Amino acid sequence: MTPRALSTLVLAAVLTASCSLVASPKDRHSAPDPATGPASGSASPSALGQTFEEDVELARTLTERYWQQTFQAAGRTYRPLSRFEAYSGQDGPDCGGQPAVPENAFYCPVGHFVAYDAQWMRSLYEEKGDGAVYVIIPHELGHAVQAQLMSDFSLNINRELQADCYAGGALKGMIDAGQLEAESGDDEELLANLAAAGDPTDAWWREDAHGTPAERQQSFAKGYNNGVNTC
Ligand SMILES: [Zn+2]
Repeated sequence: MTPRALSTLVLAAVLTASCSLVASPKDRHSAPDPATGPASGSASPSALGQTFEEDVELARTLTERYWQQTFQAAGRTYRPLSRFEAYSGQDGPDCGGQPAVPENAFYCPVGHFVAYDAQWMRSLYEEKGDGAVYVIIPHELGHAVQAQLMSDFSLNINRELQADCYAGGALKGMIDAGQLEAESGDDEELLANLAAAGDPTDAWWREDAHGTPAERQQSFAKGYNNGVNTC
């Protein structure tokens, strides 16, 4: 078997397992934290995970819970985001003097927050499915983890691919914990989301290399299959 065939098989397994994501019924009962509640719109706690706003909040809450537990298991303390902020077009928050750009999501180490263009993310959600939210938000929280671990990268692409790997590992952790249920669905969904998501106009790191769609998918699959420790 050629290496290429192997990686295709591994990827196919991941995509089949993690395409259409839905919140577990037990998790739908947990209301969002009022202090940090949905960044936009008004989510009904009784229907978590049923709308864009609810999926956004769930993706953030579950990913941070995953990392809190993972840090704790390693004898460390995860520092939750100070803010999780929706913006619209040009009105995003500055990050260390750099203006936010439309159609982006980013982690800002100065202030330790994640911000996202809500209209842009909603359009991905509507066009490409809920997987968009469950790829983008765990990826950005992966950058928050890198900041806490003071991970150092000589190339931006390595930072980005590790964030994809962290996203895959965190997503698998949530599924294993029964917080998300994976249903088999359209394999194209996650492929499309990984290709389209991330920081296509990211200016924060000065370089804009994030990896090809294939590299991003392989990095995500690595975390999903082997866990965040292998990222
Ligand atoms: Zn990124």
